[in-house]
Amino acid sequence: MRSGPTLLFHCGTGSTLTAPVHGFLDTTMAELDGLLESGQRALDLAVTCVSRLEESGFFNAGRGAVSQADGVVRRDVGAMDGGTLKALGLSQVRGIPKMARLVAALLGQSDHVHLSGQMVERWAERHGWFLEARAEKEDPTFLWDARSGQAGEGTVGCVVRDSKGNLAAVTSTGGIGRMWPGRIGDSPIVGGGFYADNEVGAISMTGIGEAILKVGGGSALLFLLGNVCEGEKDRVVSDFLDRIKSRFLGVAGFVGIDRGGQPFAAHSSERMVHGIVRKDFRQVREVGAGFFPVEPS
Ligand code: ASP
Repeated sequence: MRSGPTLLFHCGTGSTLTAPVHGFLDTTMAELDGLLESGQRALDLAVTCVSRLEESGFFNAGRGAVSQADGVVRRDVGAMDGGTLKALGLSQVRGIPKMARLVAALLGQSDHVHLSGQMVERWAERHGWFLEARAEKEDPTFLWDARSGQAGEGTVGCVVRDSKGNLAAVTSTGGIGRMWPGRIGDSPIVGGGFYADNEVGAISMTGIGEAILKVGGGSALLFLLGNVCEGEKDRVVSDFLDRIKSRFLGVAGFVGIDRGGQPFAAHSSERMVHGIVRKDFRQVREVGAGFFPVEPS
């Protein structure tokens, strides 16, 4: 069972499984199930999954992204292909809700692992992307103050292991509440908010980016999991979350697939909508920690 194609997604720390969200996710998971079965590549599947979540407007990514403290929406995204090891993060991009599609289009165009802001917008414009009219105006009264930076809700992310055993991860966000203009969290940082290597595992993070980056990012958890036996994994996952909370004072959550193909998801926030799609099996839940215990019957 463990080696079959698997897709996991999350809708960010603090996300709630309301009836409309549940309905939307049921439909989306049915679509993803079909794509998983048809043998699509891990990266394509992860991009499609995150694109659907971005388009829905339910979450703090894509259409639903929140503005920074100066009233402007700047989005971040990251994607990595665990087979080719191509990785790219884009940060502080304005006017483009389809961030997962954008990073997929840019992945592999250069060896760079991070691009930011205006020049990404310019690249997109040159390559036929439509930049939405930026209705929002920068707040001229904005002042940099220490109140900025509160927990956000609704970053989205996905990890996939496809039928050939390739892994991929994609994470997309509008950031956290009241953040300073220009602030970048973990989501678009390779090894921070997203990571995939067929030999190591795949992970997509959510939570307070500052705390996640200080603990060493999501890839640190994958490396830790690679060094322990099966019975120890639950403890390693919860120690990692406890450390982020107690030492770096941030909530966090993630979905991942370890190098043995085992799916896991956990969070230290009150809620985190997350789900799994495998052959003939789909499940979405709002709370829950540790390794997905349920196997298809
Ligand atoms: N990790 C994201 C950030 O810090 C926010 C989130 O996941 O809620 O930008």
